[in-house]
Amino acid sequence: MKENRIPFNWPHMTGKELYYIAQSHFSGRLAGDGPFTKRCHEWLEARSGCAKALLTHSCTAALEMAALLLDIRPGDEVVMPSYTFVSTANAFVLRGAVPVFVDIRPDTLNLDERLIEDAITSRTRAIVPVHYAGVACEMDTIMSIARRHGLKVVEDAAQGVMATYKGRALGSIGDLGAYSFHETKNIISGEGGSLLVNDPDLIGRAEVIREKGTDRSRFFRGEVDKYTWQDVGSSFLPGELTAAFLWSQLEEATEITSQRLASWARYHRLLESLEAKGALRRPIVPDECTQNGHLYYVLLAPALDRQIVLDEFKANNISSVFHYVPLHSSPAGLRYGRAVGNLQTTNSVSERLIRLPLWMGLSDEQQDKVIDVLERTVG
Ligand SMILES: *Cc1c(COP(=O)(O)O)cnc(C)c1O
Repeated sequence: MKENRIPFNWPHMTGKELYYIAQSHFSGRLAGDGPFTKRCHEWLEARSGCAKALLTHSCTAALEMAALLLDIRPGDEVVMPSYTFVSTANAFVLRGAVPVFVDIRPDTLNLDERLIEDAITSRTRAIVPVHYAGVACEMDTIMSIARRHGLKVVEDAAQGVMATYKGRALGSIGDLGAYSFHETKNIISGEGGSLLVNDPDLIGRAEVIREKGTDRSRFFRGEVDKYTWQDVGSSFLPGELTAAFLWSQLEEATEITSQRLASWARYHRLLESLEAKGALRRPIVPDECTQNGHLYYVLLAPALDRQIVLDEFKANNISSVFHYVPLHSSPAGLRYGRAVGNLQTTNSVSERLIRLPLWMGLSDEQQDKVIDVLERTVG
C-alpha cells in the first residue's frame, strides 16, 4: 500500500494463487471436487477436527446448506443474535423459519447464553451462535442448553477460521459450522466458504444436498454405479479455480493469523490509555478463547458522538466502518423475525462501535495515524 489513503481492508495475496490456478488450468480439471478441493477439505478437517469439511461458494451457502440439512420448515424458530450479518438469519428465513433475536453479552458482543432459554418455545429447532471477531461464544453452556431442549446448534464461524474455544476450533463444536473465505476475512478466495459437518450422521446427506440432490459424490468414489436424484439440493460447490486460490491461502494460514494478531496486539497496547481515561472500551477476549486477529474494534463511551470520529477518519483518508445495523429492527427483520427482550446491548453497541483498519501489511506508521485520530477526537 503506497497510496496515502489507509483502506479499511486490503486482501492479502500469498503469491502462489496464480501458480495453483495455472496447475488447475493445465490439468483441465475445472469443475468442483477436484484435487485442490480435496486438499482444502483435508486441511480443514485436520485443523478443525470436524468429521467432514465441504467447500461452498460462501459462508452464506454453507448456512443455507445447514438449514436444509436440519430440515428447517415453515414456522420453525431459530434463536440467534440480532447483532450479526444478514446471512445468519436469511439462511433460515429462506426455509420459512422465524429468526428469534436475542441480545448479546456486553463483553464479547456474542449471543448472551443467559438469555437463550427465555427465547425457546415448542417451535424452536436450532440455536445459531455467531463468533464475533473470531472470539468464541460460551459454547459449553450453549451446547448444554441445546442438548437439554433437543435443539441443533449451527455455529456461524464466518470470522472464526484458526480461532479456538478451550482448544477446540470454532465451527467444530456445534452439530454444524460455517466458515467464510470472503475477501474481507482472514483466509480468502474472493467469495468462498465451507460447511463443517461435526455430526457424522449428517455427512451423507450433506454431500447429496451440495451436489444438486444427487449421490454423485458416492458415484465418484465408486460406491454406486450410477448417480440419481436422491433428495432436495442445489449446487453449493465451488469450481477448482476457487479451491486452487484457497489452497495457497490455507498453506499460509498460520503466518497470516500471526501477522494479523501482531497488528491487533499493537492496537490493543496503544489504546490502553484511552480506555483508562474512559473514552472507549477495547475488545475483551475471555481466557478460554484464542482469537485470530480478524478485526479490531473500539466501543466509544456512550456520551461521545461517533459521527465526529468517523468524519475525522474520513478527513484523514482513513477508512473505518461501523456495524452491525441490528437485524431485529431492520425492515426484513421486522417482517420475518421476532425479538425477545429489549436488546439494549445490541442497540447500544451498534451505535458506539468503530472497526479500525486491519489487514496484512498494515504498517506501524499507518496504525499510528489511526490512533492519532482517536486521541485527537476522543482523548
Ligand atoms: C462474512 C460473514 C458472513 C457471510 O459470509 P459470506 O462468505 O460472504 O457469505 C456470515 N456471517 C458472518 C458473521 C460474517 O461475518
